[in-house]
Amino acid sequence: MNGKVLDIRDLSLRFATSAGPVHALRNITMAVPSGEIVGVVGESGSGKSTLALAVMRLLPGNATVTSGAIGFGGGDLLTLDEEAMRALRGNRIAMVFQDPMTSLNPVRSIGQQMVDIQHRGRASPAEKRRKAAAALKRVGMPDAESQLDRHPFQFSGGMRQRIAIAMALVQRPELLIADEVTTALDVTLEAQIIHLLRELRADIDGSILFISHNLGAIAEICDRVVVLYAGEVVEHGPIAEIFSHPQHPYTRALIACDPARISTATRELPVIPGDVPNLRHVADGCIFQPRCSVAIAKCAAERPPDRDCGAGHVARCHLVPEGLP
Ligand code: ATP
Ligand code: SF4
Repeated sequence: MNGKVLDIRDLSLRFATSAGPVHALRNITMAVPSGEIVGVVGESGSGKSTLALAVMRLLPGNATVTSGAIGFGGGDLLTLDEEAMRALRGNRIAMVFQDPMTSLNPVRSIGQQMVDIQHRGRASPAEKRRKAAAALKRVGMPDAESQLDRHPFQFSGGMRQRIAIAMALVQRPELLIADEVTTALDVTLEAQIIHLLRELRADIDGSILFISHNLGAIAEICDRVVVLYAGEVVEHGPIAEIFSHPQHPYTRALIACDPARISTATRELPVIPGDVPNLRHVADGCIFQPRCSVAIAKCAAERPPDRDCGAGHVARCHLVPEGLP
């Protein structure tokens, strides 16, 4: 594995709610190696966005990190003061959201916004504008120079997502976090954005944390994948390995439900039976046990160990034999 751009160790956090604490992330350990694209996949409520917001230190006020470290650039992001974190955001770490309007200001032209985010650079305003136009051109914006004076609402959803990506890339971040960036797009636009991100990774020489509930998108773009279930990493490893030899019953179920992999025409897509558990009361044993069709007696009582399956592939399940490699 290359050096790690992002190195998350034993991260746990909870949200305070009127009904009690929600243990949304529990002992998350995962890394993004330098120059690689790492996918984080899981159903709704598995903690994907919470994980991204924890890295950006943009968690809502009711969140408390209870353990762990988020290693980046030789330090721990959790120990930085707010000013240092602000300097890092959008500069060394950039994030693109599902809704591009989250990061675009509706009342300023995109050219003004793309110049604004370069405020730390010493280049002249004309040079910054040229850089902005180049970034727009790079993400496939036709006639980029003349688009700089237009406002976000004057673009389609797909183009707005390209603009958000160009905004993120103009600073050449070491880490780009893409949170469900293709979810709101139709399949054609989704394929275009995935293609674009794949190309851009070479440009920025950076690493991408690609968060999605869509296994097809993850398979298209990622080198590695982390499978998150109810706030825990249940399996992780190189993408080809996870898709060809998934070890965890949850990963197998996710793959079985992936529309792209269902060969027979059907109007009803399969879903994994049962619901993501209530994270206010995390039971002993395996977190997936209530939904697992192959559970054995000890699954309800004993927390499964992380089993090393070889080649950087790890699965948290009692049924994965010890010393598999
Ligand atoms: P989705 O794909 O639907 O966005 P997700 O995998 O990103 O889901 P999160 O949004 O990170 O999941 O949520 C993880 C868990 O934390 C869920 O149980 C959610 O209800 C809970 N949660 C998230 N934000 C808060 C909050 N501000 N207060 C209380 N609970 C929260
Ligand atoms: Fe299923 Fe048991 Fe494995 Fe959990 S540990 S995934 S319940 S078999």
